[in-house]
Amino acid sequence: MIRLLLPVLVVAAAVIAWLLLAPALAERRLRRAGEHGLSEADRMYLRQRMPAYAAMPGGLRSQLERLTATFMVDKVFVGCGGLQVTHLMRLAVSAQACLLELGRGDLPFPDLRSVLLYPAGFVVNEPREDEWGVVTEGPEALSGQAWDTSRILLSWEDVNARSAATAYNVVVHEFAHYLHAETGGPGESLLEAELAGLRAAIDHGEDTLLDPYGAEDVVEFFAVASEAFFEAPASMADSHPRLYTGLRDFYGVDPAAWPEPAAAS
Ligand SMILES: [Zn+2]
Repeated sequence: MIRLLLPVLVVAAAVIAWLLLAPALAERRLRRAGEHGLSEADRMYLRQRMPAYAAMPGGLRSQLERLTATFMVDKVFVGCGGLQVTHLMRLAVSAQACLLELGRGDLPFPDLRSVLLYPAGFVVNEPREDEWGVVTEGPEALSGQAWDTSRILLSWEDVNARSAATAYNVVVHEFAHYLHAETGGPGESLLEAELAGLRAAIDHGEDTLLDPYGAEDVVEFFAVASEAFFEAPASMADSHPRLYTGLRDFYGVDPAAWPEPAAAS
């Protein structure tokens, strides 16, 4: 009997050991990738293309490089609509996504599995509901979408169109949606109050730092506010001090205090 049971026990022990060890091994692989960091060519690319990277203090920059390297190893990038995903595309998306995790932990977006990258805006076909509860069916063109906990969709053309002047950053926008869904964001009452302010400003025909698209609902408002927080932090701290403070506490970084890129060490 023992002789029959022995192989079964050995196999069971091996399976249990694997189940216990596999997550630890995967995490060690990610931490190694993080410690390995980015190449000099990668850093040069980010210095030229990503103002926030160039502006932040050296310690944070090293942390962003660790997170970015970890993200690039951990997430699968899928080229869609015929797009061939290059190393620099992965780098640009990863580094901007990891801005949002800079003050939040060592393993960026642990539940996210893949980033689906399209050449340009893509069309989805699913019912959607506006702020009055009216449901619209039919195709909708999108620049990005936080699909569920495991996937985010982005248009590369829109990733490239990021702009401090218009506080536009589709990567920050979609990953902010993702974090909002996962964590609840910085608090509904703050977002509701600030959203009312944006709607009032639009009603009065004022120019707004925040994209008017954020007036749609609290969810879009948070994503749009996150874009301004990372792309135009000084203006935002000036014009929306309470919202800025709320996002500073949520994201654990203070980009308005970062020196201008030219003065960075
Ligand atoms: Zn959105």
